[in-house]
Amino acid sequence: MAGLCAAARARELGLEPVVYEKGDRPGGSMLLSSCVVWRYRTLEDFRAECPGGDPRLQELIVERFDDALAWLESLGPPIVWEETGNPRTIGKRFDPRGLTDVLAHAAGDVRLESPFPSTQDPLVLSTGGFQGDGELVHRYITDEPVLHRANPWSAGDGLRFGLARGGALSDGLDEFYGRAMPAPPAHVPEERFVELAQLYGSYALVLNEDGEEFAPDPISWAETDLVQAIARQPGGRAWYVVDEPTLEIEIRGRTVADMIDAAREAGGTVVTAGELGFELPDSYRYAVHVAAGITHTVGGLKVDERARVLAEDGAPVDGLFAAGVDAGGIAAGGYASGLATALVLGLTAAESLGL
Ligand SMILES: Cc1cc2nc3c(=O)[nH]c(=O)nc-3n(C[C@H](O)[C@H](O)[C@H](O)COP(=O)(O)OP(=O)(O)OC[C@H]3O[C@@H](n4cnc5c(N)ncnc54)[C@H](O)[C@@H]3O)c2cc1C
Repeated sequence: MAGLCAAARARELGLEPVVYEKGDRPGGSMLLSSCVVWRYRTLEDFRAECPGGDPRLQELIVERFDDALAWLESLGPPIVWEETGNPRTIGKRFDPRGLTDVLAHAAGDVRLESPFPSTQDPLVLSTGGFQGDGELVHRYITDEPVLHRANPWSAGDGLRFGLARGGALSDGLDEFYGRAMPAPPAHVPEERFVELAQLYGSYALVLNEDGEEFAPDPISWAETDLVQAIARQPGGRAWYVVDEPTLEIEIRGRTVADMIDAAREAGGTVVTAGELGFELPDSYRYAVHVAAGITHTVGGLKVDERARVLAEDGAPVDGLFAAGVDAGGIAAGGYASGLATALVLGLTAAESLGL
């Protein structure tokens, strides 16, 4: 998303960008996503939701978002929803395939199966984070096994390259955005990342493998804090235990019963509460075994409001920019739209290239 947006904007500005894409298709995780591009209603809301994030970058996103979204729409991608349906946020939902196609067309020269060359100058790093690299996930986030809920190629190449060039690390390195997914042996292919997400942790009794409660109190609306907590429990696993009335609750168009059925149908472990072997009130009906799924990392390279990668002393690293998930620390302490970050910082990076 960030790389395609940066290239499309750079081409508009008269430059001749090349998108180097390591994978065998354009679109990265954006292509797998729900594709809701959104911002919080106000900067104050953003600060309150993501208190550890860089205030200058949060301001940039809130200030530039509406124009950036209008720019995106001007490319003609299919729009699925005119509003997000979430009272906290403003934005639109696109069709991810259609958005990928129009962006790749506008970007022009997209070279597949081509990792970015280290000699390229200037360079906009937009490799989508480090969730695909087990060693980096262990180093910064958790020793427990986590599921990978993203495109297969975002494995920290941008972060490693930026650090080797003298870039500094942002805040939020131990954080990620993710979802609770049906735990193995469930089969969770990438085209089912959205529909298999188990989004009812706030309504469930959440237990670890030893039957202990560990969930944050309260759990945030996006449940990102809960998923991060699961990632640090033994095995990166938890049980969501629900009672009968909870099954009828509707969350983003699906009932809890629908989500549990989907987990069962995918081969996940769904048992009666009694089968768990923990002492629980009789009202509990089902227990679903879930695992923390990591969608993208929150920490990355430190950048400024022009998307320039910054060194420890705060000076920009010559010719090096980062956008999207590679630009770290924006949503630290909470959750914000990764697609909005990719859009705004992608445009910003392109506009900074010629300065
Ligand atoms: C199931 C799911 C649902 C989601 N839903 C939403 C949503 O509704 N709203 C939202 O805001 N966000 C959502 N997201 C998150 C969103 O997709 C990401 O935040 C966004 O795509 C990040 O943009 P990016 O450009 O940083 O990374 P990506 O879009 O992932 O692109 C990174 C690209 O870099 C490529 N790459 C990696 N290494 C190299 C290399 N060395 N050389 C060249 N190329 C390389 C990758 O192949 C990939 O194509 C969702 C994600 C998933 C997986």
